Amino acid sequence: MGINVALDGPSGAGKSTIAKMAAGKLGFVYVDTGAMYRTIAYYVIDKGIEPDDTEAVIKALDGISIELKNEGTQQVFLNGENVSGLIRTPEISMGASKVSAIPKVREFLLDMQKDIAKKNDVIMDGRDIGTVVLPDAQVKIFLTASAEERAKRRFKELQEKGDTSTFEEVLADINQRDYNDTHREIAPLKQAEDAVVVDSSSLTLEQTADEIIKIITEKTAKKKERKVRELMPVHPISKERKYSRVKLVFYTILRYIVMGLYHIYYNISFEGTENVPKDGGNVFASNHRSYQDPVFIAIKTRVPLSYMAKEELFKQNVFFTALIKFFGAFPVSRGKGDTAVIDTAIEKLEMGRNLVIFPEGTRSKDGKVGAGKTGVALVAAVAQTRIVPVGIVFEGKLGFRKKVVIKYGRPVTPAEIGVTGTDPRSLKKLKLKIMEEITKLVY
Ligand code: C5P
Repeated sequence: MGINVALDGPSGAGKSTIAKMAAGKLGFVYVDTGAMYRTIAYYVIDKGIEPDDTEAVIKALDGISIELKNEGTQQVFLNGENVSGLIRTPEISMGASKVSAIPKVREFLLDMQKDIAKKNDVIMDGRDIGTVVLPDAQVKIFLTASAEERAKRRFKELQEKGDTSTFEEVLADINQRDYNDTHREIAPLKQAEDAVVVDSSSLTLEQTADEIIKIITEKTAKKKERKVRELMPVHPISKERKYSRVKLVFYTILRYIVMGLYHIYYNISFEGTENVPKDGGNVFASNHRSYQDPVFIAIKTRVPLSYMAKEELFKQNVFFTALIKFFGAFPVSRGKGDTAVIDTAIEKLEMGRNLVIFPEGTRSKDGKVGAGKTGVALVAAVAQTRIVPVGIVFEGKLGFRKKVVIKYGRPVTPAEIGVTGTDPRSLKKLKLKIMEEITKLVY
């Protein structure tokens, strides 16, 4: 459901003008339900049917198809013909008031009204929106004004259109429609219990619109705030080493061997190595160029790395699986919002390992840094740990004596950019910061 605003009130309270102004300002769709009743009244009157002849009106419904289209302003189409300009006469107003008291007529329009509200952010005006049509609307407003004030406004409006009705006639008309609307058996004009009442008798149009926009903004902002939810509980890692010295010595020897081999095979250099923390428990967030990337990054980190690898890689042969596991790989199934993976990642950090994440998810063939996924931010925000941005730079494909530069950037902590939770907004902020730092290193 989009955001639904129900605006009810008696005839002539200024609902449609106000609703149009508010909808325009807030970017909502304005739905004028009165126009729908007016269209039915127009159709039956045109066919020579009395609007209070219940049976004849019900029969006539079969021949009616109504469509609302937004063409700058809302336009009403009756069986394909735009009738917007024909339904605002006093005769049609009274006819609408009469046909709207027929339960089958209300039923006829109800589904259509509900359906529009389901698909859009709407301000819907009418008599029974907050009580019957959209009882779950986030905002309900009951806009009213004294009968005299409403009659004055309608009278002025009619005069401008060249209508010859007198003020007394307009006032009597308003009183009659008020009576009809509040006394009918079905969906009478009634203020919803949870509606905010706005009396516009002594307010200008602009003041009323401002008041209504204020109510809508406040209520929907609260709704949005309430929607902010933490994706996972924050669990700052305790950096107690669980790494055995023997293993570390073994790892260091291996690292130096690999370093030697890589220096022979590639024309490899490192920048910003002073940024690499001496301890573990850090997230290394890197652009992704090749399957060698975890090794490139590992060469300058003193404690072993863990990294997420595609599930498929664990289904190759036993030897290969054992090897990548030894070098810290753990499986992740792509495309699944797998919180178990996040838990494993946090566990690795807790064990004092460093964790490499490639936020882009896939390798970039042309070296350009793509958009990042949120996982990296989620891990770092849950663990509240340092993130070391890494840029891996080489042109074209890797190969013998290829020039490769590995750049380590200054570590960022989630807290230093104000990210202390895991709500979507914080995660987005952290992710963008990480991607920005990686990008700076690559270009
Ligand atoms: O709002 P407007 O004056 O255009 O509505 C015309 C008539 O349609 C009203 O007098 C009222 O009787 C009826 N109506 C209704 N329920 C709505 C909207 C309008 O009964 N939701």
